[in-house]
Amino acid sequence: MKIILAQTAGFCMGVKRAVDSALEHAGKSPGGVFTTGPLIHNNQTIEMLRERKVTTLDESLPIPPQSTILIRAHGVAPDVEKSYQNIGHPIVDGTCPTVKTVHKVIEKYKNMGYAIVITGDEGHAEVIGLQGYAGNAGYLVHSPADVDRLPHFEKLCLVSQTTFDKITFDEVAQKIKDRYAQSEVVIKKTICSATDQRQNETRELAARVDAMLVVGGKNSANTKRLAHIAREVCKGPVQYVETESEIDWRAIERCKTVGITAGASTPNWMINRVVEQLEFFDQTKKKGAHTTVRSLFNLLSNLNVFVASGAVFVYYASCKLQCFQPDIPGMAILFLYFLSMYLWNSLANLESTKHQGLSRFRFYHAHKTRLFAIAGISIAFVLFISFIQGKYLFYLMVFSVIAGLVYHLTIVPKFLLTITRYKSLKDIPTSRDLFVALAWGILITFMPQVMAGVLVFSLSTWFCFSLIFILAYLRSLIFDLRDIEGDRIMGRETLVTIIGENRIRTAIHILILCSIASLIIYPLIFLPGHPRVSPARDSMSFSLQAAPLLYLFIFMMWNKDNRASRSAFFNIFAEAQFFISGLCAWLAGVV
Ligand code: SF4
Repeated sequence: MKIILAQTAGFCMGVKRAVDSALEHAGKSPGGVFTTGPLIHNNQTIEMLRERKVTTLDESLPIPPQSTILIRAHGVAPDVEKSYQNIGHPIVDGTCPTVKTVHKVIEKYKNMGYAIVITGDEGHAEVIGLQGYAGNAGYLVHSPADVDRLPHFEKLCLVSQTTFDKITFDEVAQKIKDRYAQSEVVIKKTICSATDQRQNETRELAARVDAMLVVGGKNSANTKRLAHIAREVCKGPVQYVETESEIDWRAIERCKTVGITAGASTPNWMINRVVEQLEFFDQTKKKGAHTTVRSLFNLLSNLNVFVASGAVFVYYASCKLQCFQPDIPGMAILFLYFLSMYLWNSLANLESTKHQGLSRFRFYHAHKTRLFAIAGISIAFVLFISFIQGKYLFYLMVFSVIAGLVYHLTIVPKFLLTITRYKSLKDIPTSRDLFVALAWGILITFMPQVMAGVLVFSLSTWFCFSLIFILAYLRSLIFDLRDIEGDRIMGRETLVTIIGENRIRTAIHILILCSIASLIIYPLIFLPGHPRVSPARDSMSFSLQAAPLLYLFIFMMWNKDNRASRSAFFNIFAEAQFFISGLCAWLAGVV
């Protein structure tokens, strides 16, 4: 089965902005954040938001002190906003900028004496807000037939609910032009382009697939409209599901292609769960070369074989950059160490991985004992091989293993919790990515030296360390960018959730470009006096290491809308820099 996911599926800018704002203020408001109606139409996310003290405002109940009121993306009528201001709590305006534009259009034409005709769904929160701005000048229509019931106007301005169906809007606009041919008519097609694009893509996708899945809350107007469009166009079955558990596999199991789209308030992690559930059905209930390859890939990815193999490639590069000979025991130690540590990290953090991939969560749940055994046996082998290799390497690996294992454990005694809120290293904000990158940098840079029985702290050593640290850190940031929605909802503080997606992307670009420049400049200036080997070869080794960084730069540019994040092969994209690093080191040796 080929699963095609719409590019436009998921949170739109307005909803994302409101959710981010709510979560940001939840951390600052001891009394919590109260939103003017459900922030998004997705029950599972609302439940999680509630756990983060983001709840829907209940007008009949008093609002606790030190809490914040957040106006959601739909906006509210001006008198409602004023009534909130009178309560005396801080107000955060999460109204989507596109909805705000409609408010301004209504205000402008109303003040100029125009009647305001709004196309929209009666009772929809955004429409109630628009009607509030239009006041007595406002008239709501839902279909071209409603235009006949309107009174005569000298001057009329037509606007729309931002999520209204554009074809119906065009029909209403035409009818208005015909009926009010003698009047002054202003048509403002205020349908959000995100909605437009989503509806167009759904139409186009539904026409070329055998079945469609529309993912989103049953009370979400824009998702309902997507389901309606899909039903109109798709020749096969169309399912409107809120969660993966609602998929009727029997109805679609014979379909060759299934399209998936989702409403503007459907979080990415829910879309991913639906995609993964379909893949799971497909892989477990059908057999074939394609599904076997996919299953094998998932197995290796879930076992962290790719990232552990990446560490071996980077080790090879590290040896070449520092003029040491890579050897099999070193490769084996690093492969088993990173395999066991990534496994341990996932097992110790199992519940929180739920929003980062259903298949991974399911895999870890089903094979928990076996995976613990694999991690344990790998650690035993790491210690055994390093013990045979020499006592200093053994000490280094004992320290690395202990550091990796205690990261998740509670190490701060109870009596100290009055002065620190951190019970373990993992509680320190942004610590995970930093510790992981440090482990990569320290181990892979110094292991070749320890194995050779020398310790060198030359400029090349630090360049090598920095390169490995950056490659590993960028890998973590790429995963954090993918998981940003789930991390925010779970309250996990990563650099991405703290600093924000756009700033992190800019910082990553700057970091990559500076690193590339350093790798090109450094060997030209400093290496000619290097005593170990030929400066030309050394120069080439360092300069070629710009390639993995260049790859990351291109990947980040291509993935700026997170398109690769939904690919089944995301891990390969996010870890390819390690393999490129090793291959470039090898290339420098043969050229
Ligand atoms: S659908 Fe468009 S108008 Fe509505 S919240 Fe999203 S971005 Fe804003």
